[in-house]
Amino acid sequence: MAVQTKGKCKYCGKTYSKSYMLRHLADCKERKPLTADSKKCKYYELAIYGRYDKAYWLIVEIREDAALTVLDSFLREIWLECCGHLSSFHINGVSYDSVPVEGLFWGDPAENMNHKLKTLLQKGMKFNYMYDFGSTTELIIDVHDYREGEKRKEAVTILSRNMPPGILCDQCQEREAVMICMECYWGGEGGFLCKACLKKHDCEEEMMLPVCNSPRMGVCAYEGSDSYPEEFEPDIKNIKKVLAKPQK
Ligand SMILES: [Zn+2]
Ligand SMILES: [Zn+2]
Ligand SMILES: [Zn+2]
Repeated sequence: MAVQTKGKCKYCGKTYSKSYMLRHLADCKERKPLTADSKKCKYYELAIYGRYDKAYWLIVEIREDAALTVLDSFLREIWLECCGHLSSFHINGVSYDSVPVEGLFWGDPAENMNHKLKTLLQKGMKFNYMYDFGSTTELIIDVHDYREGEKRKEAVTILSRNMPPGILCDQCQEREAVMICMECYWGGEGGFLCKACLKKHDCEEEMMLPVCNSPRMGVCAYEGSDSYPEEFEPDIKNIKKVLAKPQK
């Protein structure tokens, strides 16, 4: 899908494209500056997107002392997990696998994921991630920034995420699709169905997968995230506070 998607800024709720959002986040007016007495910690700002489908993207901040396992779990939870497949990061020519395989006769044996990000990442670098070595979903991770921020409990904080692209039903070309019929999809007959056209659709029910906001949509048995909503909610509390201020 070659559509450009937009997302909302965590701090001010304004809507921008991914590249503009990366610039905006650096000087968003609602993002609180560090105060002298706040506990500090260093974070990597990562822009993550589908290698073959850039409509799906995430901008997150992750603590430098988090291990690759933390990033792996986060990506699985928000975008990828279907049936516990293997995954792997590829950073500077080295593979870091969820389950490293010993004794492979090609290349060096892979590392595990118990490596802290600060020992591997530098601002400006890009690396790859693969989930499932069969029906692979491949991501590119761009280390966009490395900055000091207020220390938070959570290792990963979402700063922005693409809004669901809204895919049109292949049958009626009118309403938004909610399901994909994999039989029609792989048979080259579209396959995206809205609620109404789904009711009239003849294919087997087990061929249906839900439309979801992820680069793994329609792959293997992927049915969307159990822990994250389809759409990212910004911290609108900030905005409400500003609006509620009495006029002088
Ligand atoms: Zn903002
Ligand atoms: Zn699967
Ligand atoms: Zn329809």
